[in-house]
Amino acid sequence: MEELLVKMEEFKSLHKMFQIEQALPLIAGPCAIENYAQMELVAQNLVKNNVRFIRGGAYKPRTSPYDFQGLGLEGLKILDDIRKKYNLIAISEIMDPRDIETGMKYTDVIQIGSRNMHNYSLLKEVGKTSHPVLLKRGMMSTVNEFLLAAEYIVCNGNKNLILCERGIRSFDSNTRNILDIACICEIKQQTNLPLVVDLSHSLGRKDIILPIVKAVMTMQVDAIMLEIHNDPNHALSDNNQQLSLPEFDVLVRHISS
Ligand code: PEP
Ligand code: MN
Repeated sequence: MEELLVKMEEFKSLHKMFQIEQALPLIAGPCAIENYAQMELVAQNLVKNNVRFIRGGAYKPRTSPYDFQGLGLEGLKILDDIRKKYNLIAISEIMDPRDIETGMKYTDVIQIGSRNMHNYSLLKEVGKTSHPVLLKRGMMSTVNEFLLAAEYIVCNGNKNLILCERGIRSFDSNTRNILDIACICEIKQQTNLPLVVDLSHSLGRKDIILPIVKAVMTMQVDAIMLEIHNDPNHALSDNNQQLSLPEFDVLVRHISS
């Protein structure tokens, strides 16, 4: 591949965004924002554990149109309130170019999800802003396709880009996706962009997450993304993979030890 803009030296300074004094390199929060009380419990737990990034979907890309689609604008407003109240950095997915303005108003980072990595109109539109964007790897995408999707954002002018590996599809259903750890090294070689690894969507389960979180942390990624919920068994989406708050406490102790 020709030399891409994503390799620019200036991206090296973006990594500072994650180097917050005493904070753990984690981005955590529920799959979907369900109500205010839920987000408040999650935020209090993050603050207690020195985690500064909160995630939560308001617009949910669900496989079935009959499944919970997210609270939409109401969800973003909850997230906005919570980030201000608890001084957190908020990440949420935007799927439609028409929602970018709203996303910029109510989030600190707009997420482009795996299903939309190939949505070039969306990539171009967020590329025309300077709002931070977290771009997830498409579940069927090669590293080169991923980096060219990133290039769409960067070549349109937005240099505030973070990449996120979230696992790719395979024949083996033991885990929801296959976490591609080799791609971490490849992406680091080919770009200077910050890199986050989403373990919840990679694995789709939480019983094997502890050793993996520690392994990935040794690879100098900027942060690990995890789904956590105050009541995972009754979560409106992805209930198998969301850690309960006590389980998250255990994980934090595990990585801090
Ligand atoms: C998410 O992070 O909420 C999500 C839907 O993830 P992905 O796009 O990686 O499937
Ligand atoms: Mn999810």
